[in-house]
Parts: sequence; C-alpha cells; structure tokens
Amino acid sequence: MRSASGAPGPDYWQQRADYVIRATLDTAGSVIRGSERIHYENHSPDTLAFVWVQIEQNIFAKNSVTYALNQPPLHFAGGAVFDFTGKGFIGGITIERFRAAGRELGRSEYGTMMRVELPRTLPPRGTIDFDVAWDFPVPPYGGGRMGRIGTRLYEIGQWYPRMVVYDDVQGWNPLPYIGAGEFYLEYGDFDVTLTLPAGFVVAATGTVANPLAVWSAEQRARLAQARASTEGVQVITKAEATARGAQRAPGTKTWHFTAQRVRDFAWAASPDFRWDASAWKGILIQTFYRPDAVPWEEANRMAWFTIKHFSETWGMYPWPHATTVEGLIEGMEYPMLTFVPAIDRREDQYWVLTHEFGHEWFPMMVGSDERRYPWMDEGFNTFIDYGSAEGYFKGTAYGDTVRRELLTDYRVSAVPGAEQPLITKPVESRDLAWTAYQKPALMLTILRDAVLGNDTFERALREYVRRWSFRHPQPADFFRTIENVSGRDLDWFWRAWVYTTARLDQSVDSVTAAGDTALVFLSNRGQMVLPVTLELRYADGSTETRDLPVEMWNLGSRFTARVGTNKAVTRVVIDPHAIYPDVDRANNRWPR
Ligand SMILES: [Zn+2]
Repeated sequence: MRSASGAPGPDYWQQRADYVIRATLDTAGSVIRGSERIHYENHSPDTLAFVWVQIEQNIFAKNSVTYALNQPPLHFAGGAVFDFTGKGFIGGITIERFRAAGRELGRSEYGTMMRVELPRTLPPRGTIDFDVAWDFPVPPYGGGRMGRIGTRLYEIGQWYPRMVVYDDVQGWNPLPYIGAGEFYLEYGDFDVTLTLPAGFVVAATGTVANPLAVWSAEQRARLAQARASTEGVQVITKAEATARGAQRAPGTKTWHFTAQRVRDFAWAASPDFRWDASAWKGILIQTFYRPDAVPWEEANRMAWFTIKHFSETWGMYPWPHATTVEGLIEGMEYPMLTFVPAIDRREDQYWVLTHEFGHEWFPMMVGSDERRYPWMDEGFNTFIDYGSAEGYFKGTAYGDTVRRELLTDYRVSAVPGAEQPLITKPVESRDLAWTAYQKPALMLTILRDAVLGNDTFERALREYVRRWSFRHPQPADFFRTIENVSGRDLDWFWRAWVYTTARLDQSVDSVTAAGDTALVFLSNRGQMVLPVTLELRYADGSTETRDLPVEMWNLGSRFTARVGTNKAVTRVVIDPHAIYPDVDRANNRWPR
C-alpha cells in the first residue's frame, strides 16, 4: 500500500468525508443546534458493515471516561493549564437523528465514539450520505480546547459529529478522546452555515460565501485594502469594536462559509472583536481580538511573519486565509483558524501564536494521527517554531539563544526511570510537554545539526511535507522518507530517540602520541550513539575540529581516533559547542 521509500505510493488510499452543516448558536442557553449531511466515500478495498463517528462533546458528559479518570490538568511551559473536565462542567452531545436514505440507523455510544450500523454494507468505491441532527451546551471554560466567556465570546471546535479515520494500518481508529490525545481526521470539503445574534462577528475555517450579507461596505473596502497590504489594516477599529459591543443588535444573522481540502472546521464569534488584516502572496492574514487584549496590536505582524517564514521554509501555505483569534483558549489549532490567548510578554505571545499556526503544517496539511503520535505534530511543530522565533527575534538575546532551552529541558525532564519514549501514547504519558513537544524538537535539532547538516535535513523534511500533505503518514513513512531523501541509514537514530529513552555519554579517556600520530581514546558510556565532534588544541596554541562519523561505534563502545600531526596535543574537547544532551560533560574534556 505505502511505498517502501516512504512515499504514499500508487496504491495508497484514504477515505473521504465532505460535510454540509447548518447550525444555530442560541446565546440564551449557550446551546448549539445543528444538522449536517456527511458524504462518505469508501476508497478502501474493504466492505464496511458499520462506521465509527466522533462525538467529542461527550468528554463533558456525565459519567464520561474523562470524569471517571479524575486526571489532573495538563501543565505546559509558561503556566498553560488544560483541564479536560471543563472544571467540572456537565454537558455532552445529544444525537437527535442519524439517518441514511430516510432511515434511522442503529448506533451505540462509547463515550466520545459512536458506532453506527449501516443499512447495507458499503462496498469498495461505495458512497453513503448520512443525515444527522444534534445539539450540545457550550462549556463555559476553555480547557477542553473550546468554550466560551459568558455570552460574549465563543470559540468552537469538536462541535459536529464527524467520521473516524479508517486507514490501511489500523482499520478504524476509535481511540477515545479523553484529553491528552488530539485528533485524527479525514480530509474533505465543508459548506457551513451559522446563524447567530446579529451583532456577532464570526471568524472561521473557510471563506465567507455571503460577504454582502455579513460585512458592511466599509469593512469590505478595508478588507480589499488589506488584501494588497503587507501591514495590518484595521477592518474593525478599537472604537468600532467598543461601540458595537455596547449595542444589542436585534435579530440574527446567517454566515455562510466554504472550505476545501481540510480535515476539520472550527469557528469563533463575538460582538466585541477588533479585526486586523494583511496579506502575503494572496493569503489573507487576520487577527481577531477583544478591544483591550495586549499585545494584540502586534499580533497581525507576528502572524504575517509566521506564515511567510513557514511557507518559505517548509512548503507553501495552501489555504486562502490564516486567522487567529484571541480569547480564553490556551492555544488550539484548526485549519485556517487558531485560538491563542493574550500573553503579556511579547516573546511568549509570539511563541504561542507561531506554535498554533505551525500546526497548519503539522497536522492540518500533513495529517498524521495525533491521538497516537503527538510527537509527529506537536513535536515537529515545536521544532519549526524555534526557527520561527529565531527569525522574528533575530539579533536579540532571546532570538539567538531560545533553542538552548531544549538542553535545559533535557536535564530537567529526561529523568532515568521516569522518562518515557516518544512512541508512548499521549494518554499514557506522564510528561507530555517533554515527550510530545520538547524532546522531538531536540531530536530534529540534533538530526539537523549533528547528523544530516542543514541543507540535507531541510530538503528531506520538505519532501516529507510535500509527500504527505492532505494524507495520513505513519511514523515509518517519516523515517523512510528522511532516510531515502538523505541517503543515510538512520535506524540507530530513530531507535534511540523514538523507541527508547537511551542517554548519551561520550567520553575522551586519554591521549597518547605515536610518532606522527596522536591517538585519542574515546568511549561511548551511554546507550545512545551519535557522531563525535572533537576540538583539538596543540602545544603551539592552534586548534582544530574533527568530525567522526557515527559508524565509529559499529564495533563497540570504544574507539581510537588517529589524528595525523607532529604537534603535541594538549587538550581535547568533545562536543565543543555543547549541542548534545550529554549526561556527563565532565568526561568530555582531556585532561580532566
Ligand atoms: Zn500544539
């Protein structure tokens, strides 16, 4: 099915799901009611007797698995806390109907997953349309990646029943949504109509299909100006947002959005939004925020730099707009739309903003399985975020040193006996910030800087993005793509970094002279292998750097480096720029 080279290959298949959704937000009870048509295409070679559907709002249902677990909130760097019980909020989704061809279908719910019996089996190349109606109360707190602030701000994700991925590796993927593990979703097109109180402004995945009905002439004129501007244009000014928020416009307004080739659809709405917009290469870059959010006047410039940087480095952003909304959510990503909180410190604000947009590459474009392999989206994304932060803050102390924190994190988090390998499922991870975010970012940094070199590394990762955009890569597809493009055998690297918690301890044990050759006796005292960089200092004060390939460890944990020289070696330092997480640096130096 998948090619041995790590490419999808000619026989690769994946399912397709298209959605037409009509929904209404009733602010009186903060209830969303919707109906949808799901058009599902079976591209697999298998005949399906039932389908699995995700109903994530049941994470808030009474007696949900999440409540039963009584799990502590997830803590992230910078103090972000994700409480997946919504601080005790009791909600959940009600499925009013789930039909095909007018007939109600048998279904059984298991928490956030629902199995639906098909009226007749769905053969290969068969299609079926589901007619679904549902409603749920919006949680008043954002820890579950979506929520609201009173009736003034709604940030809405995981809000409509959607297909579970059926793939060639696991078949159905109905791992429950209980908190730490995010989403795995099919690609398709969306046509979404949202009816809200008339005073609300809506930001969403997709393009507004009825601009005359929802935007004023002035807003449309400013938006046209923004489409030609690399600087943020105020589409709704602070004064306008404040005035609008103070009014209570009667009635409702219906917003119509369409989106192509996306794996999800999310939206946010408020009567209080300020709205800035700019553009880069035809991509509209939008920031929506409440009037007093600080430092959000700079957020549009941050977003503009982010989209340009990631596009130029890893592959062009593929959708018509990139939009971020300030609000209560601590940070969450959807296609074309991200939720980001206001954070006082500029560097931290940039980090969360660029991180959520980095998710447009992983996993919105490269549609990996987040529920099993968060290191393939959070981790790859965290890696590219360092490049983004280094670019935006270039020339500042922060920009020039921020990536060093990965080694600090290693010392804090890679605790022998407690650390878990990257391949651990997120719901079983005791330190998700380390295993899903920071360690994979360190892994890719070392792969780039110590193993492949920048050009080869970037070429290989770009090729992975190109091959797997709008598709579902598995870990092996990533490993094979990097190895095939770089021409390097990296089994030893993935084994240590992904499947084990091997630690690195390179040592220079002694140095002797033998005629015109200096013999440098090295040993590998940990379980991880990496190439060795030696810095040699000679009696005449000169220095020299030697790179030794990783194959030096093929025959064992001791290696003698032979350095042709007539000069006396007076000092040897391993890893002189301290880029490795070497657990004992005292033995990196000779003489000790
Ligand atoms: Zn993330």
